[in-house]
Amino acid sequence: EDSDIASSPVHSIPPIAETKWNDTASYKKKKILQSWYELPDGNWELGKVISTSGTETIISLLQGKVLKVQTDCLLPANPEILDGVDDLMQLSYLNEPSVLYNLQYRYDRDMIYTKAGPVLVAINPFKKVPLYGNEYIEAYKKKSIQSPHVYAIADTALREMKRDEVNQSIIISGESGAGKTETAKIAMQYLAALGGGSGIEYEILKTNPILEAFGNAKTLRNDNSSRFSRVVQCAEGERSYHMFYQLCAGAPSALREKLNLRNVEDYKYLRQSNCYSIAGVDNAEQFRNVMEALDVVHVSKDDQENAFAMLAAVLWLGNVSFTLIDNENHVEPVADEALLTVAKLIGCKVDGLKLALSTKKMKVRNDTIVQKLTLPQAMDARDALAKSIYSCLFDWLVEQINKSLGVGKRRTGRCISILDIYGFESFDVRCFPVFSVRLLFATFTSAVVDLVRAMLQRNSFEQFCINYANERLQQHFNRHLFKLEQEEYIQDGIDWTKVDFEDNQACLNLFEKKPLGLLSLLDEESTFPNATDLTFADKLKQHLKSNPCFRGEHEKAFTVSHYAGEVTYDTTGFLEKNRDLMHLDSIQLLSSCSSPLPQIFASALLTQSEKPVVGPLYKSGGADSQKLSVATKFKGQLFQLMQRLENTTPHFIRCIKPNNMQSPGIYEQGLVLQQLRCCGVLEVVRISRSGFPTRMTHQKFARSVASQDPLSVSVAILHQFNILPDMYQVGVLEDTRNRTLHGILRVQSCVRG
Ligand code: ADP
Ligand code: MG
Repeated sequence: EDSDIASSPVHSIPPIAETKWNDTASYKKKKILQSWYELPDGNWELGKVISTSGTETIISLLQGKVLKVQTDCLLPANPEILDGVDDLMQLSYLNEPSVLYNLQYRYDRDMIYTKAGPVLVAINPFKKVPLYGNEYIEAYKKKSIQSPHVYAIADTALREMKRDEVNQSIIISGESGAGKTETAKIAMQYLAALGGGSGIEYEILKTNPILEAFGNAKTLRNDNSSRFSRVVQCAEGERSYHMFYQLCAGAPSALREKLNLRNVEDYKYLRQSNCYSIAGVDNAEQFRNVMEALDVVHVSKDDQENAFAMLAAVLWLGNVSFTLIDNENHVEPVADEALLTVAKLIGCKVDGLKLALSTKKMKVRNDTIVQKLTLPQAMDARDALAKSIYSCLFDWLVEQINKSLGVGKRRTGRCISILDIYGFESFDVRCFPVFSVRLLFATFTSAVVDLVRAMLQRNSFEQFCINYANERLQQHFNRHLFKLEQEEYIQDGIDWTKVDFEDNQACLNLFEKKPLGLLSLLDEESTFPNATDLTFADKLKQHLKSNPCFRGEHEKAFTVSHYAGEVTYDTTGFLEKNRDLMHLDSIQLLSSCSSPLPQIFASALLTQSEKPVVGPLYKSGGADSQKLSVATKFKGQLFQLMQRLENTTPHFIRCIKPNNMQSPGIYEQGLVLQQLRCCGVLEVVRISRSGFPTRMTHQKFARSVASQDPLSVSVAILHQFNILPDMYQVGVLEDTRNRTLHGILRVQSCVRG
């Protein structure tokens, strides 16, 4: 640090420079040599500053083109010596083009990892990069490599877990296809290699093929995408969960017979997307891998077979068809092979299954009314049952794995959780394919949140939920970051209030406040049978119009000011998606089954949907009053997740997708920028820099100058380098050994360059 200051060039020292540099005088004074010039297509080009006069600057661009431009159209660029720094905090000028350039500079050289203060940014290479394997693991373990890496994050987590005896978490976020799941695997690889040779490492790594087979599917954006709710619907060219195809291709003949298995083309749920294979993947071989992995993690043969029976039941459920039984469009299931097989596989009476798929019991005051279902209602009931069975199966499997690995029991009882979460989302005008969202908090602990499938052209209920979750995670992130800093500041006697950071509590209140928050109002409106998306939107506008984080839009839309920017939501489908599709009748059906798994599923579903407290909200409710809404369930699971995370030391990784073609070597500035904005990377660096991360004693700082009064010298040096009093603070350092107080100086990081 000393030499940094000694050799400090004169050009730097901007205030936090992410805003436009529109002051010509200071442009001149700071001797900015390079600038970013925005091209008409929105990309930025680097130019050398030739001269600045008045409000205009003359710059020369790459191909020798010389332009005279308004100075306030330029953003300052960093000196070449800072090209490709491995922490964005080291940039003298923190603006979007500078960050984009730095990341691209590294990406072009296969350095896909960069630190953004406390966060690791990972850009998907879409090709094998020579950064992994035992040699690298060893090097990070010995700390002989310093460059940012997932291994380094995992190593820090492991060390801090041992040192502080505190659970750790690695929180990975990013768009679909950005590399979250790969990153989670890379982190696990490191942790497993360092496990110490007790054998559990092998078991942990074996959980990956299982979780992937049951939890991942091929989508247009990713051949191995972590999905949920994909059971009953998927689009052309995509696939349902890998496990279905693997089972149909790989089950040995005895099992085929027992489960009455057919080929993939014979199942409606699999047939609808017209896509059964993935290039280069052998389904039958994968099935054997999964069976082997299930053995390794001690899932018994019986349990394996029970699980496969549930998969077959889901597939056969999709083939259940209906027939009209009266003139009022009511239907009942046809008693064919599909229906009989489902009943056999889950172990229930055929009549019971028929009833569950064709009627709905409703409680009105103290009476129970049985309502017959129309075709669309019956199909919904069938699909909801299939989805519930699948999601319960997945939860159950994660639980078995965790049990068998002895999570929380072995060794120190400490754990590292890896969270693979879909990041902040906003769709502007672009159109995205069908997809669904899943929060997977698996591997070492389990909590799976199911969100209903979506046709996405606008920001809908799914984005509403996921953005709410990200808002909470962001707060978790802020609080963590600032708590750490604050403690050190208090120790040093540095005035904490000078560090400003944007708290997002106001936005969280908008979501969570009772009774007049978004979630409460949504739940209330969902209980009114006559409510529509329009009445819901009107209700929001009526009650929230004075909230600064909320803005009513015309008709059915409203806008929320999230930490990552404004998002306009379309309320179409909100109420329907929020009302739980799973009928109580289906839960009752499952609990009446003789097979072991359906019974476990039924009790899991019941605990999930039981309301802990009967709030006033539900008193007026009719048929749905027994059940929790999807949003409330989501909130409950989110709180559980947050509670778990609160008790850990978090480590953050943001994955970035450089192009939509899944191709190596292509870095689309606009796409990267949009993701950087959404996950608040610039904000994070800004927050970190608005603190005072450089910390040294006056003596050390003023070492080169002989003097009795190091403080005066320090201040004089700072003054000479044009560092404003706002950018440094003077505190005290207690030297306990010599019982003396030393002056301590803290300087904002942008001073360093
Ligand atoms: P996400 O979970 O975010 O949807 P994935 O982790 O499944 O995305 O990554 C999508 C694809 O990108 C992977 O199948 C792989 O081909 C590629 N990929 C991601 N990260 C890496 C990496 N570190 N090295 C090589 N390829 C990667
Ligand atoms: Mg994934």
